[in-house]
Amino acid sequence: MEKEILEKINKFTRREFSEDELYVFSVILCDNEIDRDRERFSDNALNTLKTLFIGKTGIFDHDPSTSNQTARIFDTELLTDDSRTTRNGEPYKYLKASAYMVRTEENKNLIAEIDGGIKKEVSISCSAGKKTCSVCGRDRTSEGCSHIRGKSYNGRMCHTVLDDISDAYEWSFVAVPAQVNAGVTKKYTEEAEEKSASSADTDSNEELRREIVRMAFFRGGCNAVQEAERSVKGMGTKELIGLKKAYERLLEHKGIEVQLIPETSREAAEQFKI
Ligand SMILES: [Zn+2]
Repeated sequence: MEKEILEKINKFTRREFSEDELYVFSVILCDNEIDRDRERFSDNALNTLKTLFIGKTGIFDHDPSTSNQTARIFDTELLTDDSRTTRNGEPYKYLKASAYMVRTEENKNLIAEIDGGIKKEVSISCSAGKKTCSVCGRDRTSEGCSHIRGKSYNGRMCHTVLDDISDAYEWSFVAVPAQVNAGVTKKYTEEAEEKSASSADTDSNEELRREIVRMAFFRGGCNAVQEAERSVKGMGTKELIGLKKAYERLLEHKGIEVQLIPETSREAAEQFKI
C-alpha cells in the first residue's frame, strides 16, 4: 500500500492504522449510462457525487449476519473509458471509489469473499434536485413535456437527465439490485469490480444464469438476451459453467473486461424481474 493511501485513510480514523490492519478495495458507484429507469447522471452530477461520496459509509447487506460490517470511501475518481460509448452517444464515464475496512475477526470471511472474486451489485442513493428531459431540456417535475421516456427522437432515446445532486446518502453491496424509489432518492445499481471467494459454494445456478444473460446482452443486446434466456433454462451447473466460459472468451476477444459491465447487469436484472 502506498504511503499516500495510508495517509488518506488515516484522515478518517480515530487512531492511526498500519497497513496490515486495513483492507482496501474499489467499487464502481455509478456512471453516465442511461439506466433501466431511462435516467442518467449528467457530467456535472457525477462531479458532485465524486465529492459527496468521500467519507461515506457503505454496508454489506447481502447477509443479515454481517449487517454491522461497514466500509468507508476514502477516495473517488471520475474516469472515462474512450473505447466505450453510452447509449446517448457519449464517452463512457464512471465514478470509481476506493474504500477501506479495518480488518477484524468478524469481517475475515467477508474480506476473503470480496478478495476471491464474486461480483456484486453496488447500490447508491442520492437526491437529484433537477430532472430534465433529454430532448427538450424542460424540467420533468415542474414543467413537464410531451416527450416519452424510452422513445426515440431523431435517433436518440429520450431519457431523464439527473442534475443538481444535493446529497449522497449511502452505498451498499447487495445480492439483488435495490428497488427504485420513485421519490427524490435515486436508487441506482451498479456492478462492482470486486473479486470474491471460492465460487463453488456461493455461485448458485441462478447466479450463473444471470451472469450469462448479462454477458449475452453485452455482446448482442436485447435479442441476444432473449436467446440466452431460452438456452440457460434447464441447464445444469456444468453446462452453465461451460457456457459462461464461452461467453467470457468471446468478450475477451472483443477486448471487453467482463467485470466492467454495469449496464448489462441492470438489463439482465430487469429481464429476471428481480
Ligand atoms: Zn421534452
